[in-house]
Amino acid sequence: MSYAYLLKYIVIGDTGVGKSSLIMQFTQEVFRDKHDITVGVEFGAKVIKINGQSVKLQIWDTAGQEDFRSIVRSYYRSTAGALVVYDITRRDTFKHITRWVEEATNNGNSTLTFMLIGNKSDLESQREVSYEEGLQLAKEHNMLFIETSAKTKHNVEQTFCQTAVTILDKVKNGEIE
Ligand code: GDP
Ligand code: MG
Repeated sequence: MSYAYLLKYIVIGDTGVGKSSLIMQFTQEVFRDKHDITVGVEFGAKVIKINGQSVKLQIWDTAGQEDFRSIVRSYYRSTAGALVVYDITRRDTFKHITRWVEEATNNGNSTLTFMLIGNKSDLESQREVSYEEGLQLAKEHNMLFIETSAKTKHNVEQTFCQTAVTILDKVKNGEIE
């Protein structure tokens, strides 16, 4: 399939927050309650339409474990979007967001577009991090913000598309090539 733009994303965040599930739901429209743990870096792709133009998204899935970070760091090169994921039912994963943003900032290029994602929005009764807290942190770091559920598909499409719209706006304004 031909496309007008090719955008690379990297998906980061603690183990178990749902990074692989979000990518699987977006690219293959499936959800598994038990998901194989990601080793190193894996890869997904999908072509979407934005303002009538085809945009191919290449999505790099990463493992949260420290052992793999040195491999992962090399993947930041030529990446346009960083999706930083926490689990709304685990406050510890939210606390670590700043660390993930730092890793991306230190290894990526200065025009990287960040999206903060509070995943597992279907588990409302177990929520530990409020929507407002997520929004506030996103503002502090100049990130987009969304809450998603890889299980119910809530906002999954929007997450990947809104990031692309923001990146393409920057391209149009000459901020990035
Ligand atoms: P990763 O380590 O960040 O890649 O996380 P996984 O995608 O492997 O997901 C970890 C676990 O959380 C798996 O058991 C998933 O089924 C589950 N999970 C992921 N996303 C959601 C979600 O939106 N809602 C619920 N209820 N469970 C989820
Ligand atoms: Mg994974």
